[in-house]
Amino acid sequence: MARAVIAIHGGAGAISRGQMSADKEQAYIRALSDIVGAGQEILAAGGSAIEAVTEAVRLLEECPLFNAGIGSVFTRDGTHEMDACVMDGATLNAGAVAGVRHLRNPVLAARLVLERSPHVLMIGDGAEAFAMQHGMTPVSPEIFSTEERRQQLLQAIGAQQVALDHSAPLDEADKLGTVGAVALDLAGNLAAATSTGGMTNKLPGRVGDSPLPGAGCYANNANVAVSCTGTGEVYIRAQAAYDIAALMEYRCLSLHQATERVIMEKIPTLGGDGGAIAVDREGNVALPFTTEGMYRAWAWVGDAPSVGIYRE
Ligand code: ASP
Repeated sequence: MARAVIAIHGGAGAISRGQMSADKEQAYIRALSDIVGAGQEILAAGGSAIEAVTEAVRLLEECPLFNAGIGSVFTRDGTHEMDACVMDGATLNAGAVAGVRHLRNPVLAARLVLERSPHVLMIGDGAEAFAMQHGMTPVSPEIFSTEERRQQLLQAIGAQQVALDHSAPLDEADKLGTVGAVALDLAGNLAAATSTGGMTNKLPGRVGDSPLPGAGCYANNANVAVSCTGTGEVYIRAQAAYDIAALMEYRCLSLHQATERVIMEKIPTLGGDGGAIAVDREGNVALPFTTEGMYRAWAWVGDAPSVGIYRE
């Protein structure tokens, strides 16, 4: 029988070893290892894959080091607009929110959409009103802001970039975005979750791949759970997460072959870059990326977690 496993990411981008201070590197390693450990404990106790990915992404949203929830990047207008998605591989049910501005944990709102609404994707004020009807309390948008992200916006405006965090030649300090988790539980169920503040200096109203099932998030018990990070527009056009599942289903590619084909070949051909994390129903893990680095961690139940930042 396959072993339960969880993998998480904190975004892919131009993370270079030389620009990362030892303290900062330790902070990332500690955060990734604690969060993957929390997900691993849920799975070890018999918790479901959807529980494990939701909790891992909630913890990543709470951590200001990552571009999701607290620590989200700024739009061109200096606001925060966040997107999140959760997908259950057992039922193919998905829930997602886009463009939310007053919800501390967008992934929990996505989970409410999955469990308490007849819909898949809700946006803006309507998504927030729905989440509040179901017990979430609004927060002031300033809680998402960090000084580092504000500097990143000023730099992006100065360079007239629509904050292509992943492809722009920005400093490490200015890096990336998006968080995600994928898991296989002891009962053989797969699940995925993705959450993001999007891209620095994006136009208000812009939505990336992260909240779109099939683009930045996908899970199907028949084959794979995937969470993506990268140039959102390209991941949408490539239907990246679903394409990985489709290559496994229709072409019988292995997890490794399917993720390499999509992330390392198809996405760059369309002019994008980034990465993905994926777990298949046998408990194999793939974490490919085209960028200099991707914050990532993975742990099978019973094993010590592994953490990576750069290309090894
Ligand atoms: N894919 C995300 C978006 O386009 C950004 C990222 O992964 O950093 O919103």
